[in-house]
Amino acid sequence: MIYGAKHKNEEVRLNSSSGGIFRPLAENTIKKGGVVFGASYNKNNVEHIEVSNIEDLIKLQKSKYVRSDLKDSYKNVKEYLDKGIEVLFSGTPCQVKGLKKYLKQEYDNLLCVDFICHGTPTKKAFQKYMKNNKIKKIDFKDKSKGWNNYHINKDGELEFYQDNEYMQDFINDRNLEESCYRCTNKKFKSNSDIKLADFWGIQYINPRFSDDKGISTVFINTIKGEKEFEGIKHLLDTIEVSLEEATRFNPSFYNKATKGK
Ligand SMILES: Cc1cc2nc3c(=O)[nH]c(=O)nc-3n(C[C@H](O)[C@H](O)[C@H](O)COP(=O)(O)OP(=O)(O)OC[C@H]3O[C@@H](n4cnc5c(N)ncnc54)[C@H](O)[C@@H]3O)c2cc1C
Ligand code: SF4
Repeated sequence: MIYGAKHKNEEVRLNSSSGGIFRPLAENTIKKGGVVFGASYNKNNVEHIEVSNIEDLIKLQKSKYVRSDLKDSYKNVKEYLDKGIEVLFSGTPCQVKGLKKYLKQEYDNLLCVDFICHGTPTKKAFQKYMKNNKIKKIDFKDKSKGWNNYHINKDGELEFYQDNEYMQDFINDRNLEESCYRCTNKKFKSNSDIKLADFWGIQYINPRFSDDKGISTVFINTIKGEKEFEGIKHLLDTIEVSLEEATRFNPSFYNKATKGK
């Protein structure tokens, strides 16, 4: 099944990149005594951390447009899984695929969530941009002026994404990791349970469901994913969509980045 979805709570949506679907999935894992792994800023770096209390989930919310350093995540995920503790691992499709390869076996207590992935800029490009512009804190998806025309928030100063040099390098495939130019994890190749995305173009596909506060596409890929999504559905407004509708305005679902565009 594929859905268009948005959290009913507008604050959750404002603090998320698209429709705020990751947050309730993560809350449910923690309520079951589980642990959530995802990407968080750490000074001029982005790295995977583990979160086991709901207040800290805010650190994982929103897209950070740089490759996240996994540190010891795979090893720590395995330790929790072997103890029977629920784990939600969230990352790029290649990070999910890498985790599955590392684990070498299926676990009923593991939920893998990834997203349609355009690519990840290198750490070098991110740190150079932050340093050259003397930025301490960045939010790549500030929606206070709308989601379709999102802004980059640099220490409180807003810049339209189309005017931001780092975002233009990202969108035009100029600052990505080498692996993104030969990505083998498009479509459903990561075997994640749930894939999330920005539902770009929803205003043309279903104008009544559309608003400018962020809508997610949610691809339910496994029975485990379906069960977890059913558990949060009462918190969301949803519509069912076809694969064609879900991906019509989202070429990164199919296509890898192109060098020298
Ligand atoms: C680098 C990158 C490229 C993307 N490209 C596309 C695209 O081409 N098309 C599209 O539709 N959507 C893309 N997305 C996904 C989209 O921006 C949203 O993350 C997704 O729709 C989920 O939104 P949400 O509102 O449910 O949750 P959010 O709260 O926004 O999601 C946060 C989740 O994303 C994870 N995350 C954030 N940054 C990173 C990172 N650097 N590395 C690994 N995990 C990270 C967090 O761990 C957390 O689990 C991309 C996201 C990232 C990070
Ligand atoms: S584009 Fe492919 S290789 Fe690059 S971060 Fe995304 S999944 Fe990984």
